[in-house]
Amino acid sequence: MDFKLWRPDGDTRYTNYSWGLPGDGPSEISVQNGRVAESTNGPTIDLGGANLIPAFIDAHCHILPTGLDLQKLHLGNCTTHDEVLNAVREQHRELPEGAWLLAVHYDQTRYDGVHLHRDQLDAISSDRPILLRHVNGHASVANSATLHAAKVTDETPDPKGGTYVKDASGRLTGVLLERAHEFVTATAPSPTTEEMVDAILAAGEAMASYGVTCATDMMTGRYDLARELEAYRLAAERGCAIRTRPCIQWAELFGPRAKPADELIQALDGERCRVWGAKIFADGAIGSATAAVYEPYVSEGGTGQLIYAPEKLMQMVRTAHEAGWRIAIHAIGDRATDLVMDAYEALDEPTRHRIEHAMILSDAQIERMLRLGIHCTMQPEFLARFGHSYRHHLGPERASKLKRFRSVKDAGIPLSFNSDRPIVAGDPWLACMSASNRPEGYVQEENLTYAEALEAYTMMGAVANNDPAPLGVGQPAEFITWTR
Ligand SMILES: [Zn+2]
Repeated sequence: MDFKLWRPDGDTRYTNYSWGLPGDGPSEISVQNGRVAESTNGPTIDLGGANLIPAFIDAHCHILPTGLDLQKLHLGNCTTHDEVLNAVREQHRELPEGAWLLAVHYDQTRYDGVHLHRDQLDAISSDRPILLRHVNGHASVANSATLHAAKVTDETPDPKGGTYVKDASGRLTGVLLERAHEFVTATAPSPTTEEMVDAILAAGEAMASYGVTCATDMMTGRYDLARELEAYRLAAERGCAIRTRPCIQWAELFGPRAKPADELIQALDGERCRVWGAKIFADGAIGSATAAVYEPYVSEGGTGQLIYAPEKLMQMVRTAHEAGWRIAIHAIGDRATDLVMDAYEALDEPTRHRIEHAMILSDAQIERMLRLGIHCTMQPEFLARFGHSYRHHLGPERASKLKRFRSVKDAGIPLSFNSDRPIVAGDPWLACMSASNRPEGYVQEENLTYAEALEAYTMMGAVANNDPAPLGVGQPAEFITWTR
C-alpha cells in the first residue's frame, strides 16, 4: 500500500480529502503546534482528494520483543542451508567476543525440511553460544556452547511438553522443541536497559513505517519489570516514533515476587508513554494445540491447556480489579473464553476490561460478551499467516469460522484490530485486507468492509487503550493519506 503518514509539528490546515472510515469525518483538519485545533493560522494544504484516516493504533503487540528481534540476525531471506550457515558465519565475525549469536526466522521447511545439526554450527564456533530460533517460535537449533551454557547433555531428560532431539546413537542434534526450546532460550543473557531502549526505538521506527503511531506492549515484565518500564520511559524521552502503552504481566504486579512499581509507573509522561493495565494468559495457541477448546483437536486429540485452574483465574481477576487495574486476558479457545467471562461476570462492573483474541466464538458467547460490556481485540493478520496450521489442528470446517469479525461487530461489541507482532509482520494494511476479504478457507460472511476494518485498527484501537478519540481537538495530529 502506497501511503503517507502525516505528523506535522507546526500549524497547517488540510483540506480536500475523502474520509476513509465509515460515516462522516471532519471536513478539514486544522493543526496548531502539532495538535488538532478548532482553527489555525497556518497555510492550507490541498490533499487532492486522497483518502484520509487517523494513524493506526496497535493495541495488542509486543514492542520490546519486536525491537529485540530486529537486532538479531534475520534468516528469513535464506533459501539454502549454505546461505544460513554463511549468514551465521558472517555475524560470528562481527560480534564482540562472548556475545551470544541469536538468529530469528530460521525455517528448514523452506529448503529441504532437514534441520541444521549442531556440528554444522560448532564448525563456525564451538565457544560462542549460537541459537537459531525457528520462524514458528516453538523450536530452535543450538550449538554445543549454547547447550553447555544451559547445562543440557545427552543424559538430560526431556522436559514435560518438550524435546531435546537426539540422533539414533542418543547424541543431541541441537534441535530443541517446545519447552526444551523455551528452557534453553531463557538461559541467554537478558538485554541491558540500554539495549532495551535501543530495541524500543527500533520497534517504534518499524511500526511507524506501516503508519502505526501508538502501540500496546502486551506482556511487559518478561525480563525485569523495573528495567523495562525505565526503558520505555527513556525511549519516550528520546523521541520514540510511537506512543507506548505497556501492559504488565499479572504476576509482576500481584505475584509472590512482585516488587512495587508505582513510582516507575508515575514517572511515565502519560501521553507518550502510559501503563495500560495488567495482562493474564488463560490458555495457549491453536498452532500448538494448546488453546483450551470444547471440541477436541482433530490433529492430536485433547482439548488444550488452561494456564490456571478456573478458581485461580477468578481470584487473579478479582485481585487486579479490586486494586483498580484494567485487565486484558488472552483467551483463544472457546473453553478459555467462557472461563474468562465467568471471571468477569463475578465482578460488579467489568466493562473496563478486555478479552484478547477470542478466536473461536459461539453465538451464545457473543451474546454473553455483549452483556458483559467488555472490549474484544482480534488479529486479522493471523488468518493470512496461519491458515494451514489452523486447518491442520481444527479441520477445515471449524477453521473456516475462526475470528467472527462481522458477528462480533454487528452484535455491538467494541472490537479492535491489532497485530500481536512479532508473531506476524505487523502490517495493518494486510490485516485490514484479511478482515475485509478473508483468505481462502474462511467463511466470507464474517468479513467487515475495508472501511470498517480500518476503523477497528484506528478509532477502536484508541477505545481499546482507553485513549481519547484520534483527531479530536487537542490530540496529536497523526493521520494517513493514500490513493488507490
Ligand atoms: Zn500477544
